[in-house]
Amino acid sequence: MPADNTSELLKHYEVYETIGSGGFAKVKLGRHLLTGEKVAIKIMEKKDLGDDLPRVKIEIEAMKNLSHQHVCRLYHVIETSSKIYMVLEYCPGGELFDYIIAKDRLSEEETRVFFRQIVSALAYVHSQGYAHRDLKPENLLIDEDHNLKLIDFGLCAKPKGGMGYELLTCCGSPAYAAPELIQGKAYIGSEADVWSMGVLLYALLCGFLPFDDDNCMVLYRKITRGTYSHPHWLSPGSILLMNQMMQVDPKRRLTVKQLLDHPWVLKGYSTPVEWHSKHPLGHIDDDCITEMAVAFKQSRQRTIKIVSEWKYDHMTATYLLLLAKKRQGRPVRLRAERPVLDSTYSPLQDIQLKKSLRFSEDDDGVHPVVLGSVVFPLDCCDDENSWTPLTPKNTHTTNTPRMILTSETSENRWYDLGQSPIIERGKPCPQKPERRERTRENKENLSVNSSDRDVFALPAPRTPMSSRKATRSNRTVATTPNNNIINTSSDTNRGAASASKEMSRRREMDQQQGELDMLAFSPERRSRSLDLAGCQVDSGQKRKGGKVFGSLERGLDKVITMLTPSKKRGPRDGPRKIKAQYNVTLTSHTNAEQVLNQILSILPEKNVDFIQKGYTLKCRTQSDFGKVTMQFELEVCLLHKPEVVGIRRQRLKGDAWVYKHLVEDILSTSSI
Ligand code: ADP
Repeated sequence: MPADNTSELLKHYEVYETIGSGGFAKVKLGRHLLTGEKVAIKIMEKKDLGDDLPRVKIEIEAMKNLSHQHVCRLYHVIETSSKIYMVLEYCPGGELFDYIIAKDRLSEEETRVFFRQIVSALAYVHSQGYAHRDLKPENLLIDEDHNLKLIDFGLCAKPKGGMGYELLTCCGSPAYAAPELIQGKAYIGSEADVWSMGVLLYALLCGFLPFDDDNCMVLYRKITRGTYSHPHWLSPGSILLMNQMMQVDPKRRLTVKQLLDHPWVLKGYSTPVEWHSKHPLGHIDDDCITEMAVAFKQSRQRTIKIVSEWKYDHMTATYLLLLAKKRQGRPVRLRAERPVLDSTYSPLQDIQLKKSLRFSEDDDGVHPVVLGSVVFPLDCCDDENSWTPLTPKNTHTTNTPRMILTSETSENRWYDLGQSPIIERGKPCPQKPERRERTRENKENLSVNSSDRDVFALPAPRTPMSSRKATRSNRTVATTPNNNIINTSSDTNRGAASASKEMSRRREMDQQQGELDMLAFSPERRSRSLDLAGCQVDSGQKRKGGKVFGSLERGLDKVITMLTPSKKRGPRDGPRKIKAQYNVTLTSHTNAEQVLNQILSILPEKNVDFIQKGYTLKCRTQSDFGKVTMQFELEVCLLHKPEVVGIRRQRLKGDAWVYKHLVEDILSTSSI
């Protein structure tokens, strides 16, 4: 196992900004150096995983066994003593959830396109012996061709006795959970998945959930009753299908097999859903092998032998990414020759590579350090760092409520593992339980035994370095309990607390780092949403330039060279000009300043803390106990056609439906 650093990752990938986070992980955009392909890098801190560590193994093992056009592909797994990185197929279109809320709801025709893909993915996943158990629109991502990819297999189950084997662990997100799960009964994974697909279908067609309530007990009652409203726009065919899927009695529910050629699913199509994999596991492509053999200067036979081991190392990643290029009709070419990836790999090669990577080999991988002329922080929790100290509590936040039902107790009690231990009758549902059910509760994945735990070594104990990391993370907190605004302007920060020279130096550095976090990464973040709509990205916004800066952890006196994003690129004088896209809300205004000011005046009213960077507002909400419950961005921008002001929204963390209601509330109260 590589030492506790990022070198193995940085040898092969550039790492950019955070594009999502969940119960376990931070997900960052990355680029595979040899192929130039974008990837998503799911980063998990072992110390934060605790008992959930074996869940990650379950997810990795499941994803290694799944290769399907509608399942997100795993390319590479890297484990260090403190972190696990999963390199995944990148889906630039964001979550299906965001797509639904942007459109309010989808037409029956568009829903059918997506639903057929969901059925295809699930039929395949079930055929491989897995139940997903956490189906929801947040776990379906849209790829560059506007196709869906299923993600997040952290809660999946592969019962040893096959798909007919009854499961006990109640997991997933309450609103999508089948009645038998809610009631703590033994259940069949595939049947429970069909219920969740019914809820998902309803969400697509209606733009809201069939079973919803702030109060958990009321929500569970609604689910176990299985009654929901039928908005007037639903066709009789849609109502019938949902009714057949959301049958309280699982034995009366449709099966996935029946869904493949269901009349509603077939409407407008001549064939049933194709669920077989178009990319079966184990296939070896000649062109990719030839290219790799040439690049790595080794025989084709040897290359085939190495690739066929499917180690999910750099060779697997290179092969799968080349194959992805080929499938998209792009040249099967590697970017540059590089040495054979084996033990003869020398430190000099490493340095040369990292120069091109613009990353440093840092001991814990969280410090922004310079090689060449550019700095990028590679902190798996960088978003939090600009707000609050990195503490275990805010590394456990999850996107959506997760739950367990203890089968050991005589009463069926729902446990919120993150916040309060027990959700009592009549108490409101917690918006963000922090963790999935603990592994020891999960009895279904019998293949995971104690010896499997050895596959992942436990994290190193906390060191003085990790404590310093926490101190560093504290750096830009400039809010008070009653003041929502966190002003990061340099004058304010400097004037606020320059008690000592060192403090002021630290603050300046932190503030510059904050700018870097925001600005150096923004072109890539933009490209994530802009790629989709073909919007213009200012090519002048590439990382260039140089400035003096220090690395706090390495000593304040150590001066290194880096870019000055604020001087080269911003803060922007005006709002960005973009094309309309689905995560942009159009206003009737033409004055961006006015719209920005309206939003600024509303955020404190809604108890939303924010950091303002030009026309972008990095927002967050906190629970009464100071836990970050939601993070999102609002950016005021100018649209081409029509020429009006728009507001780009992006959820980074927090329950998707709560986010929807909050942003709708902010925008409608701002009367824009
Ligand atoms: P967790 O297992 O911690 O719940 P997820 O796998 O659900 O984490 O990922 C969290 C979020 O990160 C997702 O909801 C999504 O927004 C983003 N994300 C995950 N995988 C990808 C990907 N392959 N491409 C783009 N974004 C991704």
